[in-house]
Amino acid sequence: MSNSVTAYLLLGGNLGDRAALLRAAQAQLATAAGEIAAASALYETAAWGREDQPAFLNQALAVRTALPAAELLAQCLATERHAGRERLERWGSRTLDVDILLYGDALVDQPGLTVPHPRLAERRFALVPLAEIAPQLRHPRLGLTVAELLARCSDPLPVRPWPGK
Ligand code: ATP
Ligand code: CA
Ligand code: CA
Repeated sequence: MSNSVTAYLLLGGNLGDRAALLRAAQAQLATAAGEIAAASALYETAAWGREDQPAFLNQALAVRTALPAAELLAQCLATERHAGRERLERWGSRTLDVDILLYGDALVDQPGLTVPHPRLAERRFALVPLAEIAPQLRHPRLGLTVAELLARCSDPLPVRPWPGK
């Protein structure tokens, strides 16, 4: 589609059958948001910001979408609801979280939507899967590639390929 944009999403969850929930989310997003142009492997990381929680599985997706950013977010939130997501506390456990990391080169600062995701550069669990599918992608606010952001990231939490060996 000529007016489509490549958006990068980060999927994550730490409750239930995590891998099955990520697969179902990808299928729903392919229908509701657009063609999945790339999907990273799954990675496991201890819960970020809170240590008293089960570990997360994360996956990055590249989606070719014709939806404006706000409508893409609405589809991400609908996908979370479909997975039974409940919002109980900030950074709490959840079946599914879908964040927009990047939406083309767009800089979005609206109530309820900030793109690029404001905490991308400080999260190894987001940069590792994103670097697998788009290492040379340039962050439109920071001016560095994803690979460069990962090399500079000081997040100490290890991000392990899943299933672990
Ligand atoms: P974090 O934003 O630190 O990753 P979180 O994903 O746990 O935390 P949520 O409770 O899932 O936070 O989301 C809260 C709100 O953040 C969403 O309802 C949405 O309106 C808003 N939001 C702002 N920017 C984005 C973005 N780039 N992607 C997804 N949601 C966003
Ligand atoms: Ca998140
Ligand atoms: Ca979120």
